[in-house]
Amino acid sequence: MSAAHAEGTTVLVAGGGPAGLAAAAELALHGVDCVVIEPRVEVSHRRPRAKTTNARTMEHLRRWGLADGLRAAAPLKVAWSQRVTFCESLTGRRITDFDHAFGLTTERDDRFAEAGQQVPQPVVEEVLRRHIRGRPGVDLRLGHTVTAVRQDADRAVATVRDGQGAAYEIGARWLLGCDGAAGVVREQIGGRFVGRSDPRPNFNVVFRAPTLETDLGPAVQYWVVGAAASGLIGRLDLSGTWWAIMPGVDPDYGIAHASELITGLVGAPVDHEVLASDPWTARLLIADTFRDRRVFLVGESAHVNPPWGGHGFNTCVGDAVNVAWKIAAVEQGWAPPGLLGSYEPERRGVVEQTVASAEANMRNLAGDLPRDEQTIHAAKRTEFYSFGLVLGYSYAGSPVVQPAARPPAVTDVTSYTPAAEPGARLPHEWLPDGSSLYDRLGTGFTLVGPAPGRHPGVAGLVSRARQRRIPLALAEPSASYPWRTEFLLVRPDQHIAWRAADPSDIDLDLVTGASP
Ligand SMILES: Cc1cc2nc3c(=O)[nH]c(=O)nc-3n(C[C@H](O)[C@H](O)[C@H](O)COP(=O)(O)OP(=O)(O)OC[C@H]3O[C@@H](n4cnc5c(N)ncnc54)[C@H](O)[C@@H]3O)c2cc1C
Repeated sequence: MSAAHAEGTTVLVAGGGPAGLAAAAELALHGVDCVVIEPRVEVSHRRPRAKTTNARTMEHLRRWGLADGLRAAAPLKVAWSQRVTFCESLTGRRITDFDHAFGLTTERDDRFAEAGQQVPQPVVEEVLRRHIRGRPGVDLRLGHTVTAVRQDADRAVATVRDGQGAAYEIGARWLLGCDGAAGVVREQIGGRFVGRSDPRPNFNVVFRAPTLETDLGPAVQYWVVGAAASGLIGRLDLSGTWWAIMPGVDPDYGIAHASELITGLVGAPVDHEVLASDPWTARLLIADTFRDRRVFLVGESAHVNPPWGGHGFNTCVGDAVNVAWKIAAVEQGWAPPGLLGSYEPERRGVVEQTVASAEANMRNLAGDLPRDEQTIHAAKRTEFYSFGLVLGYSYAGSPVVQPAARPPAVTDVTSYTPAAEPGARLPHEWLPDGSSLYDRLGTGFTLVGPAPGRHPGVAGLVSRARQRRIPLALAEPSASYPWRTEFLLVRPDQHIAWRAADPSDIDLDLVTGASP
């Protein structure tokens, strides 16, 4: 096939799982064209996998105008339950509860613009698919598969197989490998996973049991501990569809004994129909590189972590946002390609923290825990309360973030203290009119600080940004915002690039990757 006949696009997104769909949503927000290649025509509800959409991902969904839509589509509303319950079985004794787990709350909280939401991954993917299909410049090709990738000086070229088996090529200025752990892009750029797999198998089932009820009350997860069958069980919806995860159960045994295992978790026989099973192994893998020239690895093509804590797909969305706004800045001419060199240094640290946290959570699975409230609370706290990781990760030390005068605070997984250090996520607040400070941010950079007329340096910064064609919005926090006398230059991804008493001190070259 002749490359001369290849189609062209600005960004080729290989893979339309959570990472690829999020990348397309972010590119669409910035008006950058992309083609998304995804083999799965339909999203399967039989393999729900991720159920935790954390507060940070919800904030990104809010930026794309999708947070309310996702909550409406979610079968289990936050108001229905914000609890994880530990028990002897679904029909047995309650051992203890974790309330407001996974960032679930119906209360407004100054720390975040959106609370978490429990929602099966297929529902998230459907909401994202619907959204990007309606965006100008996004071409979602279902039933197509990337088979090879090559690069020359000014573009990457993907070979794609369409639904009928015919091959064609697409040239792109940038290519995002969002094709998951088993995709082709990582190998095509010579990348390789480093890490290990957990030796224990895990067995998931989805089943229908419309008569199954529990006196334990609503919970997003029930952990059954200390019984012959231990594991997790929960509702997928309120009309009788359930999921269960049984750690330590190998696939052959699980398939042959699925009903017995379900009965064990329930604690009594219950009418049910097994709809699907999904064996999996926990892996702790990080690619040795996230980039080769015009090709970036995004999401699980770059890293895989055990699902304990519910960070996997959320971390993938964080990658997608990070690389996509930077590509938009380069394509729109307000940042040089050097900006893209910050993708890997910024995301690798977050990924390493996430993998370490998930690994720690994996040390205490349902079968490892005693029926003891205090031990369970000590062992599982980081799994259900992780705002330190979810909201508190920082890009301090990045080449495009103001060198910190002070080192970043030591990250504690469970607790998040808002901080305005360069690299941190902008401390959120609810404004007096009830709107979020985040809703006042532009899609480019935003200077958050006192009213523009009050400092002469603001006009100078606006003028310097205009000369460089850097989109710059201005936003004023409320009178009670702890940092209201300072100027915070906020990036499109809501992280602080620069903190200054005088906007004249802000180095626009550094934050856009233009510094040598
Ligand atoms: C049991 C379980 C529970 C989990 N729970 C959570 C949770 O609560 N919260 C959480 O955040 N995460 C959770 N995860 C992890 C989450 O499912 C993954 O992190 C997430 O799906 C990764 O997204 P991705 O887009 O990077 O990769 P994938 O979801 O693997 O998507 C990759 C996409 O690329 C496509 N593709 C593959 N090959 C090609 C090719 N050659 N060309 C083009 N496209 C290709 C695939 O069809 C797929 O759609 C869980 C995982 C498991 C196993």
